[in-house]
Amino acid sequence: MLRIGILAVQGAVAEHKAAVERTLQMKKLEGEVVLVRDRGALESSDALIIPGGESTTISKLIVKFQLADLIKHRVKAENFPVMGTCAGSILLASKGDEEVKKTGTILLELMDFSVVRNAFGSQRESFEMPLTIKGIAPESQPFPGVFIRAPLIMETRGSCESLGSLPDGTGIIAARQNKLLALVFHPELTGDLRIHEYFIETI
Ligand code: GLN
Repeated sequence: MLRIGILAVQGAVAEHKAAVERTLQMKKLEGEVVLVRDRGALESSDALIIPGGESTTISKLIVKFQLADLIKHRVKAENFPVMGTCAGSILLASKGDEEVKKTGTILLELMDFSVVRNAFGSQRESFEMPLTIKGIAPESQPFPGVFIRAPLIMETRGSCESLGSLPDGTGIIAARQNKLLALVFHPELTGDLRIHEYFIETI
């Protein structure tokens, strides 16, 4: 029985829970969602989703609740699968831009990429764009990318692999490193379950 943890300290938790439950049902997998707010819940999970929200707030709460160290430990010791969406992808980055630094956001530093927070500025805060994502969404069946004050991944290094870029090539929208997956948009806000399916398959 799969236990999929969703970090539930702040952000789009309910939407991820619904998407995971629908994916499990669709794939006829026995499993359940664990809402993670303490170390016990994190320890009992087989994987973790870090949702979108406000990255500074989430980063402070996971330090306060003593979750940050345990997430890092489990990834390093046992290849624990983690998917971060939007704010969650910021927290997975190894390097942040000025805005990450000036807000005192504490990154988990688990994936070898640099991130630019609020990369689209205030003029284009929210928009939708069809995305091609390697191994998930081919050009003929693009993924509906929902961007909300989204970050962008600027550069991947080492074993961290880009899974796709913006059509104009100005930034990376998805990356993977071992069992870690970072997406700068919100897959949980669409009816499209391909990303949740992909993540669950890696567990
Ligand atoms: N702009 C937010 C941040 O920097 C992320 C937005 C989101 O998760 N939708 O934390």
